[in-house]
Amino acid sequence: MASSFLGNLVESTYLPLETATTILAMAGLFKWPPQATVNDGDRFDFIVIGSGVGAVIANRLTENEDVRVLLIEAGKNPSVESMLPGLFILLQNSYQDWNYVSEPEEATKNQQFGAYRTSAGKCLGGSSNINHFIHLRGDPCDFDSWAAYLKDESWSYKNVLPYFRKSETIQDEDILKYYANFHGVDGPVIITRQPDDSTRNIMESFEEIGVPSVLDLNTNNTVGFTESSFIIGNGRRQSTSQAYLNNLNRDNLYVLTETVAEKIIFEDNVAVGVILRLGSGEKITVYANREVIVSAGTFNPLTSSGF
Ligand SMILES: Cc1cc2nc3c(=O)[nH]c(=O)nc-3n(C[C@H](O)[C@H](O)[C@H](O)COP(=O)(O)OP(=O)(O)OC[C@H]3O[C@@H](n4cnc5c(N)ncnc54)[C@H](O)[C@@H]3O)c2cc1C
Repeated sequence: MASSFLGNLVESTYLPLETATTILAMAGLFKWPPQATVNDGDRFDFIVIGSGVGAVIANRLTENEDVRVLLIEAGKNPSVESMLPGLFILLQNSYQDWNYVSEPEEATKNQQFGAYRTSAGKCLGGSSNINHFIHLRGDPCDFDSWAAYLKDESWSYKNVLPYFRKSETIQDEDILKYYANFHGVDGPVIITRQPDDSTRNIMESFEEIGVPSVLDLNTNNTVGFTESSFIIGNGRRQSTSQAYLNNLNRDNLYVLTETVAEKIIFEDNVAVGVILRLGSGEKITVYANREVIVSAGTFNPLTSSGF
């Protein structure tokens, strides 16, 4: 399981051998879905492109045994080091990152390369495998304003809150004591905090100058300083792939990693299929009986040549 990335780090003594041993011990904890065998012309009920939030969608959809779901991911399975919170600093600008840079502009002229680095995860679990762990929901007012704008109450905070709760196992006694109504205790994503004295000292300093500290920003009170909640549990990153795909054995879920969705096929303005480029370079077309769901991240150069 040790990737050459890991091997190189140990060799260059950047990574202590002890940490490398921990990584190897952890390798046994992960069983990613096997690479599916998919042929040109195959049909599925749903095709999900991108496995960040796409991992959640694929998991939820396949709870129904009668539904066949194909999940497409351009990157590989996550490395073991991406699961170890202490190593997150190594993940940006690695092979698990699309390594995009912004267009150069006046404001970026003093940056390295004269542009901003704009990281985005490229592996099963997407950016949730390289992100900085902070577990912070959108502001309730935002959800309510979207609901009002769309004239669709299902987007109101009252209506999305049960899904936030369903996703979580919060492991923090203080938050549970005061804010249990906002949190879940048996969902797939473990949430923890790591309070420490030095952070508290900083928060007390802010309070002295009138800036409030807040125990939990994932409530209706979203303004102030806090000791963050993190998507870290059992010593592991709680990425969407870890929480929703690891050790998941479902015959109705088909996962293709190292596969790029190049083009969506429309008939009468309805998305009916997707042209895929497999890891081998072969191109195939797959079809969706019900929906093609695009969850391929915020930006992607493939969009200009594909979608
Ligand atoms: C460095 C960094 C730090 C962050 N820190 C935090 C944080 O602390 N807290 C927080 O809440 N958020 C954080 N974020 C943001 C958060 O991780 C993202 O908002 C979230 O993961 C986005 O989910 P997504 O599914 O929309 O996209 P992604 O998670 O990016 O998933 C998109 C997936 O689609 C795949 N894909 C793209 N194009 C194709 C294609 N054509 N064919 C097949 N697959 C494709 C990609 O490889 C990727 O795996 C951070 C992000 C980054 C990059």
